[in-house]
Amino acid sequence: MSDQFPTATALVLFSGGQDSATCLAWALQRFGRVEMLGFDYGQRHIIELGCRGQLLDGITSLRPEWAAKLGESHTLEIPTLANISDTALTRDVAIAMGEDGLPNTFVPGRNLVFLTFAAALAYRRGITHIIGGMCETDYSGYPDCRDETIRALQTALNLGMNKPFELHTPLMWLNKADTWKLAHDLGGTALVDLIREYSHTCYLGERGARHAWGYGCGECPACALRAKGWREYVTRTV
Ligand code: ZN
Repeated sequence: MSDQFPTATALVLFSGGQDSATCLAWALQRFGRVEMLGFDYGQRHIIELGCRGQLLDGITSLRPEWAAKLGESHTLEIPTLANISDTALTRDVAIAMGEDGLPNTFVPGRNLVFLTFAAALAYRRGITHIIGGMCETDYSGYPDCRDETIRALQTALNLGMNKPFELHTPLMWLNKADTWKLAHDLGGTALVDLIREYSHTCYLGERGARHAWGYGCGECPACALRAKGWREYVTRTV
């Protein structure tokens, strides 16, 4: 479906990763105008924020009609999140499984914080549609990626700010192979290649080695998930 909300503006949580790049294309297909928001929270893979420029340049040259819809790209610094969370995403410790069954890459409340800041920014900018790449299918057990969490937060934000925010999560029920397929549906092989080349997923922030699925250490959970999804996607399409 295209131009579902031709006169509305959307705010996309855009980190520079595979998921958020796909969400950005999804939003450009549906909304009249799209703004972006990324967070600097002291993540080890801060390099992903730097990937946003190349992704945007690529999207701009890929589809002129999408380029015309691109609005402001915002970055908010929230170092407090790193100060209070002792996790493998923000500190130089090995990624491992914690006693609570959650990987130590879990930043408690991260998506709640992101979406709340996004809603505050959206409020100021007169935007009610907020789009995030949260996914319950491949969510590594992160409880703030659950559909139920997002729906509850939408209710809380609408009450707390007295605005009819809609939190859109187009990847919620997709696995990583489905997400590659969605990118292909939205922008063909050119968009898939763009995301493959320029989006960043690796938790360790490595972009040294180029694999079929893109750059990364190839070992961390994020790389493993991305690689597995890519293999499934390729197997499906041949
Ligand atoms: Zn990695």
